[in-house]
Amino acid sequence: MMTNSQTIALACSLVARASLTPDDCGCSFLISRRLAAAGFNIQWHNFGECTNLLATHGVGSPFILFLGHTDVVPAGDEKLWDHGPFSGAILNYQGQEVLFGRGSADMKGSDAAMCIALEDFVKKNPNHQGTIGLLLTSNEEGDGKGGIKEVARILKESGNIPDFCIVGEPSSEKVFGDTVKVGRRGSLSVLITVEGTQGHVAYPERVDNPIHKVATLISKLSSRIDNGNEFFPPTSFEVTNIHAGTGAENVVPATCEFLCNFRFNNLQSKESLEQLIKAYLNKLNIKATLDFRLNGLPFITENSQDPQSTAFKLRQAISISIEEVTGLKTQFSTSGGTSDGRFIAPLGAQVIEFGPLSATIHKVNEHVLAEDLNKLTTVYFKVIEKLLT
Ligand SMILES: [Zn+2]
Repeated sequence: MMTNSQTIALACSLVARASLTPDDCGCSFLISRRLAAAGFNIQWHNFGECTNLLATHGVGSPFILFLGHTDVVPAGDEKLWDHGPFSGAILNYQGQEVLFGRGSADMKGSDAAMCIALEDFVKKNPNHQGTIGLLLTSNEEGDGKGGIKEVARILKESGNIPDFCIVGEPSSEKVFGDTVKVGRRGSLSVLITVEGTQGHVAYPERVDNPIHKVATLISKLSSRIDNGNEFFPPTSFEVTNIHAGTGAENVVPATCEFLCNFRFNNLQSKESLEQLIKAYLNKLNIKATLDFRLNGLPFITENSQDPQSTAFKLRQAISISIEEVTGLKTQFSTSGGTSDGRFIAPLGAQVIEFGPLSATIHKVNEHVLAEDLNKLTTVYFKVIEKLLT
Protein backbone atom coordinates (compact mmCIF):
# COMPACT_ATOMS: atom_id res chain seq x y z
CA MET A 1 0.00 0.00 0.00
CA MET A 2 1.13 3.54 -0.73
CA THR A 3 1.46 5.26 2.60
CA ASN A 4 4.24 7.48 1.33
CA SER A 5 2.07 9.33 -1.18
CA GLN A 6 2.15 13.12 -1.47
CA THR A 7 -1.37 13.31 -0.07
CA ILE A 8 -0.41 11.38 3.04
CA ALA A 9 2.80 13.34 3.61
CA LEU A 10 0.86 16.60 3.37
CA ALA A 11 -2.01 15.32 5.55
CA CYS A 12 0.51 14.28 8.25
CA SER A 13 2.06 17.74 8.39
CA LEU A 14 -1.40 19.33 8.59
CA VAL A 15 -2.52 17.09 11.47
CA ALA A 16 0.73 17.90 13.32
CA ARG A 17 -0.43 21.52 13.54
CA ALA A 18 -2.87 21.97 16.43
CA SER A 19 -5.11 24.38 14.53
CA LEU A 20 -7.90 24.83 17.04
CA THR A 21 -10.66 27.11 15.74
CA PRO A 22 -10.04 29.82 14.57
CA ASP A 23 -6.25 29.35 14.57
CA ASP A 24 -5.10 28.19 11.15
CA CYS A 25 -1.67 27.42 12.62
CA GLY A 26 0.10 27.75 9.26
CA CYS A 27 -1.93 25.00 7.53
CA SER A 28 -3.19 27.27 4.74
CA PHE A 29 0.24 28.77 4.22
CA LEU A 30 1.71 25.30 3.73
CA ILE A 31 -0.93 24.54 1.08
CA SER A 32 -0.64 27.98 -0.54
CA ARG A 33 3.10 27.50 -1.02
CA ARG A 34 2.53 24.25 -2.87
CA LEU A 35 -0.23 25.64 -5.05
CA ALA A 36 1.70 28.86 -5.78
CA ALA A 37 4.62 26.72 -6.97
CA ALA A 38 2.17 24.88 -9.25
CA GLY A 39 1.14 28.20 -10.83
CA PHE A 40 -2.02 28.95 -8.83
CA ASN A 41 -3.08 32.51 -8.10
CA ILE A 42 -3.14 33.01 -4.31
CA GLN A 43 -5.53 35.35 -2.52
CA TRP A 44 -5.87 35.82 1.22
CA HIS A 45 -9.21 37.01 2.56
CA ASN A 46 -8.56 37.15 6.28
CA PHE A 47 -11.11 38.64 8.67
CA GLY A 48 -10.27 39.07 12.34
CA GLU A 49 -8.76 35.86 13.61
CA CYS A 50 -10.03 33.84 10.67
CA THR A 51 -7.70 32.85 7.82
CA ASN A 52 -9.26 32.27 4.39
CA LEU A 53 -7.19 31.10 1.44
CA LEU A 54 -8.46 31.19 -2.13
CA ALA A 55 -6.15 29.56 -4.69
CA THR A 56 -7.27 29.42 -8.32
CA HIS A 57 -5.83 28.34 -11.67
CA GLY A 58 -7.12 29.15 -15.15
CA VAL A 59 -9.80 31.58 -16.30
CA GLY A 60 -13.50 31.69 -17.07
CA SER A 61 -16.07 28.97 -16.81
CA PRO A 62 -16.74 26.38 -15.78
CA PHE A 63 -15.42 27.23 -12.33
CA ILE A 64 -14.86 24.20 -10.09
CA LEU A 65 -14.25 25.12 -6.47
CA PHE A 66 -13.07 22.72 -3.76
CA LEU A 67 -14.02 23.82 -0.26
CA GLY A 68 -12.40 22.84 3.03
CA HIS A 69 -11.47 23.92 6.52
CA THR A 70 -8.17 23.79 8.37
CA ASP A 71 -9.54 24.23 11.90
CA VAL A 72 -10.26 21.32 14.22
CA VAL A 73 -12.28 20.82 17.39
CA PRO A 74 -10.33 20.36 20.66
CA ALA A 75 -8.87 16.94 21.44
CA GLY A 76 -10.48 16.90 24.89
CA ASP A 77 -8.67 14.86 27.54
CA GLU A 78 -5.46 13.79 25.78
CA LYS A 79 -4.97 10.96 28.28
CA LEU A 80 -7.95 9.18 26.72
CA TRP A 81 -6.21 9.01 23.33
CA ASP A 82 -4.22 5.89 22.37
CA HIS A 83 -1.61 8.13 20.68
CA GLY A 84 -0.92 11.87 20.65
CA PRO A 85 -3.81 13.68 18.93
CA PHE A 86 -1.41 16.06 17.16
CA SER A 87 1.46 13.70 16.39
CA GLY A 88 0.37 13.54 12.74
CA ALA A 89 1.60 9.99 12.34
CA ILE A 90 0.79 7.04 10.13
CA LEU A 91 0.24 4.13 12.48
CA ASN A 92 -0.74 0.54 12.40
CA TYR A 93 -3.91 0.92 14.42
CA GLN A 94 -6.44 -1.84 15.06
CA GLY A 95 -4.77 -3.85 12.30
CA GLN A 96 -4.93 -1.15 9.67
CA GLU A 97 -2.67 1.54 8.31
CA VAL A 98 -4.22 4.84 9.40
CA LEU A 99 -3.52 8.53 9.63
CA PHE A 100 -4.19 9.15 13.30
CA GLY A 101 -5.09 12.36 15.10
CA ARG A 102 -7.50 15.23 15.54
CA GLY A 103 -8.57 16.52 12.13
CA SER A 104 -7.36 13.47 10.18
CA ALA A 105 -10.94 12.72 9.04
CA ASP A 106 -12.51 16.15 9.64
CA MET A 107 -11.02 17.33 7.40
CA LYS A 108 -7.28 17.70 6.90
CA GLY A 109 -7.09 14.41 5.00
CA SER A 110 -9.51 15.89 2.45
CA ASP A 111 -7.65 19.23 2.40
CA ALA A 112 -4.50 17.36 1.43
CA ALA A 113 -6.34 15.24 -1.16
CA MET A 114 -7.91 18.33 -2.77
CA CYS A 115 -4.55 20.13 -2.89
CA ILE A 116 -2.70 17.20 -4.48
CA ALA A 117 -5.52 16.48 -6.97
CA LEU A 118 -5.47 20.13 -8.13
CA GLU A 119 -1.67 20.16 -8.31
CA ASP A 120 -1.60 16.92 -10.33
CA PHE A 121 -4.34 18.10 -12.65
CA VAL A 122 -2.49 21.31 -13.52
CA LYS A 123 0.75 19.41 -14.00
CA LYS A 124 -0.94 17.14 -16.55
CA ASN A 125 -3.23 19.80 -18.09
CA PRO A 126 -1.40 23.14 -17.86
CA ASN A 127 -3.74 24.71 -20.42
CA HIS A 128 -7.02 23.33 -19.15
CA GLN A 129 -10.25 25.14 -19.86
CA GLY A 130 -12.18 26.98 -17.13
CA THR A 131 -11.09 27.70 -13.58
CA ILE A 132 -10.23 25.30 -10.77
CA GLY A 133 -9.66 26.38 -7.20
CA LEU A 134 -9.41 25.62 -3.52
CA LEU A 135 -11.01 27.66 -0.76
CA LEU A 136 -9.96 27.00 2.85
CA THR A 137 -11.16 28.63 6.05
CA SER A 138 -10.02 28.36 9.68
CA ASN A 139 -13.44 28.98 11.23
CA GLU A 140 -15.83 26.20 10.23
CA GLU A 141 -16.05 24.29 13.50
CA GLY A 142 -16.69 27.47 15.48
CA ASP A 143 -19.16 30.28 14.94
CA GLY A 144 -17.99 30.79 11.33
CA LYS A 145 -17.28 34.47 12.00
CA GLY A 146 -15.05 35.96 9.31
CA GLY A 147 -15.20 32.67 7.38
CA ILE A 148 -16.81 31.37 4.19
CA LYS A 149 -19.82 33.65 4.48
CA GLU A 150 -17.49 36.64 3.98
CA VAL A 151 -15.59 35.02 1.12
CA ALA A 152 -18.88 34.10 -0.57
CA ARG A 153 -19.83 37.78 -0.46
CA ILE A 154 -16.52 38.69 -2.12
CA LEU A 155 -17.03 36.05 -4.81
CA LYS A 156 -20.50 37.41 -5.47
CA GLU A 157 -19.34 41.04 -5.65
CA SER A 158 -16.56 40.16 -8.07
CA GLY A 159 -18.88 38.01 -10.21
CA ASN A 160 -16.60 35.07 -9.57
CA ILE A 161 -19.35 32.50 -9.11
CA PRO A 162 -18.44 28.81 -8.96
CA ASP A 163 -20.51 26.49 -11.18
CA PHE A 164 -19.55 23.46 -9.13
CA CYS A 165 -18.48 23.21 -5.51
CA ILE A 166 -17.11 20.04 -3.92
CA VAL A 167 -16.88 20.15 -0.14
CA GLY A 168 -14.42 17.66 1.39
CA GLU A 169 -16.42 16.97 4.57
CA PRO A 170 -16.33 13.31 5.66
CA SER A 171 -19.49 11.99 3.98
CA SER A 172 -18.79 8.25 3.81
CA GLU A 173 -20.81 6.20 6.28
CA LYS A 174 -19.76 2.54 6.40
CA VAL A 175 -17.15 2.19 3.66
CA PHE A 176 -15.25 4.78 1.69
CA GLY A 177 -17.35 6.03 -1.22
CA ASP A 178 -20.75 4.76 -0.08
CA THR A 179 -22.33 8.20 0.42
CA VAL A 180 -22.27 11.64 -1.19
CA LYS A 181 -24.22 14.52 0.35
CA VAL A 182 -26.17 16.34 -2.31
CA GLY A 183 -27.89 18.79 -0.02
CA ARG A 184 -28.32 19.87 3.54
CA ARG A 185 -31.25 20.83 5.64
CA GLY A 186 -31.50 24.39 6.91
CA SER A 187 -30.90 25.25 10.55
CA LEU A 188 -32.88 27.75 12.58
CA SER A 189 -32.35 28.36 16.30
CA VAL A 190 -34.95 30.21 18.36
CA LEU A 191 -34.71 31.51 21.92
CA ILE A 192 -38.26 31.66 23.26
CA THR A 193 -38.88 33.59 26.48
CA VAL A 194 -42.32 32.92 27.91
CA GLU A 195 -43.80 35.38 30.38
CA GLY A 196 -45.89 34.54 33.43
CA THR A 197 -46.60 36.01 36.85
CA GLN A 198 -44.27 35.38 39.76
CA GLY A 199 -45.67 34.44 43.16
CA HIS A 200 -45.91 32.05 46.08
CA VAL A 201 -46.53 28.41 45.12
CA ALA A 202 -49.15 28.14 47.87
CA TYR A 203 -51.41 30.63 46.05
CA PRO A 204 -51.87 29.18 42.55
CA GLU A 205 -54.69 31.63 41.78
CA ARG A 206 -52.24 34.52 42.11
CA VAL A 207 -49.52 33.13 39.83
CA ASP A 208 -49.28 32.33 36.15
CA ASN A 209 -46.65 29.64 35.80
CA PRO A 210 -44.48 30.15 32.69
CA ILE A 211 -42.87 26.71 33.08
CA HIS A 212 -46.22 25.00 32.61
CA LYS A 213 -46.87 27.09 29.51
CA VAL A 214 -43.49 26.14 28.08
CA ALA A 215 -44.30 22.47 28.66
CA THR A 216 -47.50 22.79 26.62
CA LEU A 217 -45.79 24.78 23.90
CA ILE A 218 -42.95 22.25 23.56
CA SER A 219 -45.41 19.39 23.29
CA LYS A 220 -47.25 21.22 20.48
CA LEU A 221 -44.02 22.05 18.63
CA SER A 222 -42.91 18.42 18.90
CA SER A 223 -45.74 17.24 16.69
CA ARG A 224 -44.94 16.53 13.04
CA ILE A 225 -44.28 19.69 11.03
CA ASP A 226 -44.17 18.13 7.57
CA ASN A 227 -43.52 14.75 5.94
CA GLY A 228 -40.40 15.67 4.01
CA ASN A 229 -40.18 15.05 0.27
CA GLU A 230 -38.14 13.05 -2.25
CA PHE A 231 -35.00 15.04 -1.34
CA PHE A 232 -35.28 15.59 2.40
CA PRO A 233 -36.47 13.94 5.61
CA PRO A 234 -39.23 15.64 7.66
CA THR A 235 -38.37 18.91 9.43
CA SER A 236 -37.23 18.24 13.00
CA PHE A 237 -37.61 20.21 16.22
CA GLU A 238 -35.38 19.76 19.28
CA VAL A 239 -35.12 21.67 22.55
CA THR A 240 -31.49 22.21 23.51
CA ASN A 241 -31.64 24.41 26.63
CA ILE A 242 -34.30 25.29 29.11
CA HIS A 243 -33.99 27.74 31.96
CA ALA A 244 -36.27 29.04 34.73
CA GLY A 245 -36.47 29.31 38.47
CA THR A 246 -35.38 31.65 41.22
CA GLY A 247 -33.58 28.94 43.17
CA ALA A 248 -36.27 28.88 45.84
CA GLU A 249 -38.64 25.92 46.06
CA ASN A 250 -41.68 28.01 46.96
CA VAL A 251 -41.54 30.63 44.21
CA VAL A 252 -43.11 30.40 40.77
CA PRO A 253 -40.76 32.34 38.47
CA ALA A 254 -41.80 35.24 36.23
CA THR A 255 -40.31 33.83 33.03
CA CYS A 256 -39.11 30.63 31.46
CA GLU A 257 -36.83 30.60 28.44
CA PHE A 258 -35.86 27.77 26.18
CA LEU A 259 -33.60 27.41 23.18
CA CYS A 260 -34.69 25.17 20.35
CA ASN A 261 -33.47 24.26 16.89
CA PHE A 262 -35.27 23.33 13.70
CA ARG A 263 -33.48 21.33 10.99
CA PHE A 264 -35.73 22.14 8.09
CA ASN A 265 -36.21 20.90 4.55
CA ASN A 266 -37.04 22.95 1.47
CA LEU A 267 -40.77 22.82 2.25
CA GLN A 268 -40.10 25.29 5.11
CA SER A 269 -38.47 28.67 5.52
CA LYS A 270 -37.59 30.90 8.46
CA GLU A 271 -40.91 32.68 7.85
CA SER A 272 -43.03 29.52 7.82
CA LEU A 273 -41.45 28.31 11.07
CA GLU A 274 -41.90 31.72 12.66
CA GLN A 275 -45.59 31.59 11.68
CA LEU A 276 -45.90 28.10 13.13
CA ILE A 277 -44.57 29.23 16.53
CA LYS A 278 -46.71 32.38 16.53
CA ALA A 279 -49.84 30.39 15.67
CA TYR A 280 -49.28 28.10 18.69
CA LEU A 281 -48.59 31.10 20.95
CA ASN A 282 -51.84 32.65 19.81
CA LYS A 283 -53.86 29.48 20.21
CA LEU A 284 -52.48 28.81 23.68
CA ASN A 285 -52.73 32.47 24.65
CA ILE A 286 -49.05 32.63 25.61
CA LYS A 287 -47.07 35.86 25.72
CA ALA A 288 -43.48 35.38 24.59
CA THR A 289 -40.56 37.09 22.92
CA LEU A 290 -38.81 35.29 20.08
CA ASP A 291 -35.19 35.66 19.13
CA PHE A 292 -34.28 33.93 15.84
CA ARG A 293 -30.90 32.87 14.54
CA LEU A 294 -30.89 31.51 11.01
CA ASN A 295 -27.75 29.37 10.68
CA GLY A 296 -28.32 28.22 7.13
CA LEU A 297 -30.93 27.69 4.43
CA PRO A 298 -31.53 24.27 2.92
CA PHE A 299 -29.85 23.54 -0.39
CA ILE A 300 -30.04 20.68 -2.87
CA THR A 301 -28.24 19.60 -6.02
CA GLU A 302 -31.34 18.25 -7.68
CA ASN A 303 -31.77 14.96 -9.45
CA SER A 304 -32.00 16.65 -12.84
CA GLN A 305 -32.50 14.49 -15.96
CA ASP A 306 -31.14 17.22 -18.25
CA PRO A 307 -27.59 16.19 -19.27
CA GLN A 308 -26.74 19.85 -19.97
CA SER A 309 -27.60 21.02 -16.45
CA THR A 310 -24.83 21.61 -13.92
CA ALA A 311 -26.70 19.51 -11.33
CA PHE A 312 -26.75 16.50 -13.67
CA LYS A 313 -23.08 16.94 -14.62
CA LEU A 314 -21.90 17.14 -11.01
CA ARG A 315 -23.91 14.13 -9.83
CA GLN A 316 -22.66 12.10 -12.81
CA ALA A 317 -19.03 13.17 -12.37
CA ILE A 318 -18.89 12.21 -8.70
CA SER A 319 -20.80 8.94 -8.93
CA ILE A 320 -18.87 7.67 -11.95
CA SER A 321 -15.52 8.72 -10.40
CA ILE A 322 -16.34 6.91 -7.15
CA GLU A 323 -17.39 3.81 -9.05
CA GLU A 324 -14.19 3.83 -11.11
CA VAL A 325 -12.05 4.04 -7.95
CA THR A 326 -13.99 1.82 -5.53
CA GLY A 327 -16.37 -0.26 -7.63
CA LEU A 328 -19.22 1.06 -5.49
CA LYS A 329 -22.50 2.62 -6.55
CA THR A 330 -22.65 5.60 -4.22
CA GLN A 331 -25.87 6.79 -2.59
CA PHE A 332 -26.96 10.43 -2.53
CA SER A 333 -28.05 11.73 0.85
CA THR A 334 -29.19 14.96 2.53
CA SER A 335 -28.84 13.82 6.15
CA GLY A 336 -26.54 15.28 8.81
CA GLY A 337 -25.66 18.79 9.93
CA THR A 338 -24.96 21.88 7.89
CA SER A 339 -21.62 22.68 6.27
CA ASP A 340 -19.99 25.72 4.73
CA GLY A 341 -21.56 24.60 1.45
CA ARG A 342 -24.61 26.54 2.69
CA PHE A 343 -22.81 29.81 1.91
CA ILE A 344 -21.73 28.77 -1.60
CA ALA A 345 -25.05 27.24 -2.74
CA PRO A 346 -26.98 30.57 -2.63
CA LEU A 347 -24.51 32.00 -5.18
CA GLY A 348 -26.05 29.62 -7.71
CA ALA A 349 -23.41 26.90 -7.51
CA GLN A 350 -24.23 23.20 -7.41
CA VAL A 351 -22.78 21.84 -4.18
CA ILE A 352 -21.94 18.29 -3.13
CA GLU A 353 -19.94 16.93 -0.23
CA PHE A 354 -17.64 13.97 -0.53
CA GLY A 355 -14.94 12.78 1.81
CA PRO A 356 -13.74 9.88 3.98
CA LEU A 357 -15.57 8.00 6.75
CA SER A 358 -17.20 10.12 9.42
CA ALA A 359 -17.16 7.36 12.07
CA THR A 360 -14.52 8.93 14.37
CA ILE A 361 -14.95 12.66 13.75
CA HIS A 362 -14.89 14.90 16.84
CA LYS A 363 -14.20 11.74 18.92
CA VAL A 364 -11.22 10.48 20.88
CA ASN A 365 -8.81 8.50 18.61
CA GLU A 366 -9.99 10.16 15.38
CA HIS A 367 -8.38 8.43 12.42
CA VAL A 368 -8.79 7.71 8.74
CA LEU A 369 -7.52 4.86 6.57
CA ALA A 370 -4.38 5.99 4.73
CA GLU A 371 -5.54 4.09 1.67
CA ASP A 372 -8.82 6.03 1.63
CA LEU A 373 -6.96 9.35 1.37
CA ASN A 374 -5.16 8.10 -1.75
CA LYS A 375 -8.46 6.94 -3.23
CA LEU A 376 -10.00 10.29 -2.35
CA THR A 377 -7.25 12.12 -4.25
CA THR A 378 -7.96 10.00 -7.33
CA VAL A 379 -11.71 10.61 -7.07
CA TYR A 380 -11.18 14.39 -6.86
CA PHE A 381 -8.79 14.27 -9.82
CA LYS A 382 -11.30 12.34 -11.91
CA VAL A 383 -14.13 14.72 -11.00
CA ILE A 384 -12.10 17.69 -12.32
CA GLU A 385 -11.23 15.74 -15.46
CA LYS A 386 -14.87 14.80 -16.15
CA LEU A 387 -16.22 18.29 -15.51
CA LEU A 388 -13.64 19.98 -17.72
CA THR A 389 -13.65 17.65 -20.69
ZN1 LIG B 1 -15.63 19.42 9.09
